[in-house]
Amino acid sequence: MLWQELYNQFRDQGQRGLTITALSGIDVALWDIKGKHFNAPISVLLGGRVRETVQAYATGAFRREGVDRVTDTAEECARHVADGFKAVKIKIGFGVEEDLAVVEAVRQAIGPDTRLKIDANHGYSALEAIEAGRRGAEFDIDWFEEPVIPEQLDAYREVRAKQPIPVAGGETWHGRFAFRDPIKTGCVDILQLDLFGAGGFTEMRRIADMAALRGERVVPHVSGTAIQIAASLQLVSAQLPNPPRRDPIAPIFEFDRMPNSFRQAVITQPLEAQDGIMRIPDGPGLGIEINRDALKDFAFAPSFGNVS
Ligand code: CA
Repeated sequence: MLWQELYNQFRDQGQRGLTITALSGIDVALWDIKGKHFNAPISVLLGGRVRETVQAYATGAFRREGVDRVTDTAEECARHVADGFKAVKIKIGFGVEEDLAVVEAVRQAIGPDTRLKIDANHGYSALEAIEAGRRGAEFDIDWFEEPVIPEQLDAYREVRAKQPIPVAGGETWHGRFAFRDPIKTGCVDILQLDLFGAGGFTEMRRIADMAALRGERVVPHVSGTAIQIAASLQLVSAQLPNPPRRDPIAPIFEFDRMPNSFRQAVITQPLEAQDGIMRIPDGPGLGIEINRDALKDFAFAPSFGNVS
């Protein structure tokens, strides 16, 4: 009811973007309070813990200035594999030829048994994405994430139809109404809702149900602080095996490996992967404690000169 009241109140200022992002944060905080009140993890309130651990994939490999991108990306991915990850995701979308050289070098560096995903961060046109997908498919790629800008649903469908790699996306769509057309018209194979962008636990459940009707896998987008990691782990713990058949596809969890001193500092017990596996906290609510001293260290104090 609180979600709906806020949504109704702020509709005129936008049904997406910052409005829904802020609403998502409030929603997650309210679920955390509810969990603490009932002394249960949010995953239990969502219907029950289907799993206590989840396999993580390492996200990283952005283009860095001043280094050879092909060798730099391959070396970084080899480190993730050495750290125990069985799956990695790299960034492309900088130009088809160079991107394909990177993908080939990464596949050689990680060997045939490590799963590989590619993410264009909506850096391609539909034509470029189709070419990259057709030529890149030989490197055994699980999914092709955000091939084109998320506003262009026609382009998403075109990419999905004209190249063989499964298409993923959805981290910038907000609220169930924004997800309706991408789901209804089959824009993606894998829907990557962001818990803190799609509307929090309350709205995500509705969107995940819509996606399940089409047989789309929901693999949450996770790139924020450890609070987002913790919240997304609660969601994944309660996710029913999908598709609903005897041998469902094992879920996989996005674990951002790009440098971020803020990410784990905001909680008292960091959430790390061990041999590529994340344990899902089972304490009340989100199952984490905020490190409020660390928050002060990172506080932003804008300076507007001498205002008295
Ligand atoms: Ca992404």
